[in-house]
Amino acid sequence: MNDSNDLLSALRAAVGAQQVLTHEDPATDLAAYEQDWRRRHRGRALAVVRPGNTAEVAAVVQACAAAGVAIVPQGGNTGLVVGSVPDASGQQVLLSLQRMNRVRALDAANLTLTVDAGCILQAAQQAAEAAGLLLPLSLAAEGSCTIGGNLASNAGGTQVLRYGNAREQCLGLEVVTPQGEVWDGLIGLRKDNTGYDLRDLYIGSEGTLGIITGATLKLQPQPAAKLTAWAALPSIEAAVELLGLAQRQLGAGLTGFEAMSRFSLSLVDKHYPQLRVPLWQDHPWCVLLENSDSESEAHARERFEALLEAALEQGCVSDAIVAESLGQAHNLWHIRESISLAQSEEGLNIKHDISLPVSAIARFCAETDAQLAAEIPGVRLVNFGHLGDGNLHYNVQAPEGGDPAAFLREQESRINHIVFDSVRRHGGSISAEHGIGSLKAETLPQYKHPVALALMRRIKAALDPQGLMNPGRVLIQEPR
Ligand SMILES: Cc1cc2nc3c(=O)[nH]c(=O)nc-3n(C[C@H](O)[C@H](O)[C@H](O)COP(=O)(O)OP(=O)(O)OC[C@H]3O[C@@H](n4cnc5c(N)ncnc54)[C@H](O)[C@@H]3O)c2cc1C
Repeated sequence: MNDSNDLLSALRAAVGAQQVLTHEDPATDLAAYEQDWRRRHRGRALAVVRPGNTAEVAAVVQACAAAGVAIVPQGGNTGLVVGSVPDASGQQVLLSLQRMNRVRALDAANLTLTVDAGCILQAAQQAAEAAGLLLPLSLAAEGSCTIGGNLASNAGGTQVLRYGNAREQCLGLEVVTPQGEVWDGLIGLRKDNTGYDLRDLYIGSEGTLGIITGATLKLQPQPAAKLTAWAALPSIEAAVELLGLAQRQLGAGLTGFEAMSRFSLSLVDKHYPQLRVPLWQDHPWCVLLENSDSESEAHARERFEALLEAALEQGCVSDAIVAESLGQAHNLWHIRESISLAQSEEGLNIKHDISLPVSAIARFCAETDAQLAAEIPGVRLVNFGHLGDGNLHYNVQAPEGGDPAAFLREQESRINHIVFDSVRRHGGSISAEHGIGSLKAETLPQYKHPVALALMRRIKAALDPQGLMNPGRVLIQEPR
């Protein structure tokens, strides 16, 4: 018996033999667990372990800690920064939360929902909706991603403008520590000043400090009506102006503000012509706006029309439509959500999920677009994102007709430097909502304040002294 076999026996004892998947079994295909969403990395796990409850997670973590074996937690495996798949060593245990997918409780009077960490986001949204309430966390991966993954990566999405990101929507957590203890912090309190905020520490820690096994989430009343509008604009400056106007006129009713450049929409038009993208050809930018109203649809429409009239008069909007039906609104959102897929259809590309002060966005785009065009002739920018949160997906596509793989190999590092240096000059962040994972772990030290980085390392060392929780993610090994 070698050490791996001892560990596998302990894992089988913890969760049952059927829930420990290994390469030894030729009938088992582990590709779905070992390949990341963007196909940037394919790892190899010692085993994929699928616990069914918190006690089993604790037993798995204890067994791995005793054996000194690293754990990679995985929810829906939809993360975009290579954080949820094992490395290539064949020595890491992949802990899948997939089977822990229960809705545990809904407290309508307290406006809270408590779920297992492996609960799919869409299932949590539906549980809230069934009680006439709203869980306002919404992203294109919601049919596959899990609440644990959303919290571990502090996901954003399309309603951050009004409701905040995953962090703002979480009141309590249940966590298994790197030593295998269970912290039951599933409280539904809006106020709890009893010391350090451990919940906030675990949110956004990308599995490097422990395993989230459950969460208590904040719910909201459902709005009486939700309307969507699509506006065509002359420039990104105009988009920033429209955002200010919409915030003043709609106040808390403004629940979505997504900007899309003409080239990003041209890719949707090219690869998914059936979606019939409106108004994109003659205008450099389009914006999708959502207005959630607590009174009625008529009231929402009246306010939306007043906003768009003012914007047309002011010149920051050139043309606009307000969706006439839920189906039309759904189609408009579908166009926005199809940009990433259309971009993948066009070929490999370099993604930057960045944030900036809203006031710096137009200057950032002008300067960075110009620098990239000058240094890499023919480069194509797929620029779109959650403008209302200052979050751009500032992605770079190879020149038309070029070899995307060669472009990535030769230009990725240079392009990243140009973009991230510009982000820093404009007071922004190199990761707005996708996290660091292993994709940006090498880059982080160049852009994070050194004192912040040192504090992060000390926290990691204090909570996970063996360094077994998702190693190589967020923080790279310190040079000795
Ligand atoms: C089509 C598409 C659209 C997207 N849109 C958005 C968007 O609009 N906004 C946005 O913010 N993100 C977006 N994302 C990325 C986003 O981060 C993920 O979709 C989601 O939040 C990750 O959830 P997951 O369950 O798939 O986590 P995974 O991918 O499985 O894991 C993500 C990270 O969290 C860790 N982790 C997972 N579960 C746990 C747990 N229970 N305990 C501790 N650590 C854990 C993993 O180790 C990994 O580091 C999108 C992704 C796709 C594919």
